[in-house]
Amino acid sequence: MTLLDGKKAAAEWRADTARRVAELHALTGRTPRLAAVLVGNDPASEIYVSLKAKACAQCGMRSRVMRLPADSTQQQVHDTVRSLNSNSDIDGIIVQQPLPAHIDSKALLEVISPRKDVDGFTPDNIGRLALGMDCLPPATPAGIIELLRRNGITTRGKRVTVIGRSNIVGRPMASLLIQKGLMADATVTVCHSATPDLAPILRDSDIIISAAGSPGLVTAGMVRPGTVIVDVGTTRVDDPASPKGYRIAGDVDFPAVAPLCSHITPVPGGVGPMTIASLLHNTVTAFERRRLNR
Ligand code: NAD
Repeated sequence: MTLLDGKKAAAEWRADTARRVAELHALTGRTPRLAAVLVGNDPASEIYVSLKAKACAQCGMRSRVMRLPADSTQQQVHDTVRSLNSNSDIDGIIVQQPLPAHIDSKALLEVISPRKDVDGFTPDNIGRLALGMDCLPPATPAGIIELLRRNGITTRGKRVTVIGRSNIVGRPMASLLIQKGLMADATVTVCHSATPDLAPILRDSDIIISAAGSPGLVTAGMVRPGTVIVDVGTTRVDDPASPKGYRIAGDVDFPAVAPLCSHITPVPGGVGPMTIASLLHNTVTAFERRRLNR
């Protein structure tokens, strides 16, 4: 069994991005800048935003955090995003999830400029992805493809099962995998909460990508020896043995499943670092397209 080490692959990807940033700086005198909108004080969101800002700095990119109080109105959040859309010094915009319950996140997606949508969540980018057109791809699915590619795993002709149909992971993951290309061209099955029996579908898969957010969902009895497993799930579970009182759990019963696999991601340290590296990659792409018409 080989571990799909997301920390290592993300560090290599960030080094590639840093080289692109240095070239763009030599060419234009500018460096890409990412803006993160943070509504409220969710501690996990604070951590994610600071990790993204730190990763920007590691690549020679600039970042900015726009903090809004938890009781901000929909209009106030829209106004903040619109000001970033029209700010020529900003190349990429992310709105950190989760948002307070009173904010309509779908309405907000209509406001983010597709050219600066480095999460790849807007209807324009998702629609372009579905049509096989040039787009800013969703960060997590694109990061998963890059993790496989950097580990010499292609998807062409493989049977890939995606667990989960959310707009940010499962659904766009399936869209990417059915594109044409060496890192696509897969035969894809999408499972979700109404799928009656996962086991026979998973046992028939060459690659399993699980994004359910359900710890222990994928067990050893569901996996054929030699399968590649990407565990996207990150669920906080109580753990009195941990100094923090909790740990982050994936969807896969790792100790039982890992010995059967050809490759598997750890949680944490698998998909998470690749999502951030993917975001930076998209920000540089957005910079190039906007400023250099590439
Ligand atoms: P979501 O809750 O929006 O979607 C979960 C999906 O899983 C749903 O489509 C649901 O139908 C499906 N599902 C749930 N239980 C199932 C079951 N028993 N059998 C089959 N399908 C089932 O979640 P999301 O936003 O897509 O995120 C999924 C998980 O991935 C979460 O744990 C989230 O924290 C994690 N995540 C990690 C990263 C990362 O970078 N590491 C990025 C995004 C999401």
